[in-house]
Amino acid sequence: MTIKKIGVIGAGQMGHGIALVAAKAGYEVILRDIDEEFVKKGLTKIEGFLDKSIEKGKMKPEEKNGILSKLRGTTKLNELKDMDLIIEAIFENIKIKKELFKDLDKICKKDTFFASNTSTIPITDLASVTNRPDKFIGMHFMNPVPLMKLVEVIKGLRTSNETANLIKEISEKMGKIPVEVNDGPGFVSNRVLIPMINEAVYCLMDGTGTAENIDSVMKLGMNHPMGPLALADLIGLDVCLDIMNVLYEGFNDSKYRPCPLLKKMVQGGYLGRKAGKGFYSYSK
Ligand code: NAD
Repeated sequence: MTIKKIGVIGAGQMGHGIALVAAKAGYEVILRDIDEEFVKKGLTKIEGFLDKSIEKGKMKPEEKNGILSKLRGTTKLNELKDMDLIIEAIFENIKIKKELFKDLDKICKKDTFFASNTSTIPITDLASVTNRPDKFIGMHFMNPVPLMKLVEVIKGLRTSNETANLIKEISEKMGKIPVEVNDGPGFVSNRVLIPMINEAVYCLMDGTGTAENIDSVMKLGMNHPMGPLALADLIGLDVCLDIMNVLYEGFNDSKYRPCPLLKKMVQGGYLGRKAGKGFYSYSK
C-alpha cells in the first residue's frame, strides 16, 4: 500500500517534530491536538525550527514554504478519517491512549495503519483495543525528533511483517534509521538506558561518586556525549521514575527497583531541567 496521508495526534514535544519530518518527507500531514491553542503552539514551533534552519543556511525559504504547504492543524478527530497512517504522540497514559485508538478504529478506513510513539506502554496491549492488531505498531522516535536518527520500530505480538516493513520504509523516507525490536517492557531503548541512569543515582546515593564525577566517568571513559545524571535532568526525573516502575512491574524483577534517592527527589519536586533543579541547578 502507498502511504500519502499521515495524521499525527498530539502537537507537543514529540508530535510537532514528527509532523515536521513527515511533511519534509513529502507526506500530506494533519496535526491534531485537543485544543486550538496546543495546535497553534505545535505549528509555531515547526515554523521556528524551519526559520532557524534557513538562518543556519541548512534550508532554502522555498523549502520551508513547501513543507508548510503539506501541513495543517485541526482539533477535530474526524478529519483524520482518510489518513493512510496515524502516528499517535499524546500523553503517556494507557487509559487515554486506549480511548483514542478505540475512537480511531471506528473513524478510520479499514486499511489505515496505526503507530504509537509510546516510550513504555506495551504495543500488544494498545493494539488489543482495535480490530486491526496486524496493522498496529510502535514507532518510537527520539527527542528532538528532527535531529535524532533512530526510530525504534516495535512489533507487537500480532503486528504483521508487511506493517513492520512499511513503517521501516516510511521511517527511512523521513531521514531516519529504523531498528526493529519486539514488544517488551521499555522495549530496548528504555530497558537499557533507564536502569543505567538508576544505577548512577545509586552511586550518588551511596557516596561512590559525586554527580559531576559519575557523569565524567561515563563521558570520558565510555564516550557518552552526556553523563547519566545530566541526562536524567534532561529527560525529567519523574519520567525516569515512571519508566523504572514500568520495568519493575513488567518483569516482576527486583533488579529494576527504582533507587530510593530517585523517588525522594521526585517527591521533593527535583524533576530536572524543567523544574530548574535536579542533580544539577539550572537558572531559569
Ligand atoms: P507532550 O506533553 O509534550 O505532548 C502531548 C500532547 O498530546 C499535548 O499537546 C496534549 O494536549 C496532547 N493530547 C493529549 N491527549 C490528546 C488527545 N486525545 N488527542 C490529541 N492530543 C492529545 O508529550 P511528549 O513529550 O510529546 O510525549 C508524547 C508521547 O511521546 C508519549 O507517549 C511519550 O512517552 C513519548 N515520547 C516522549 C519522548 C520525550 O523525550 N518527550 C521521547 C520518546 C517518546
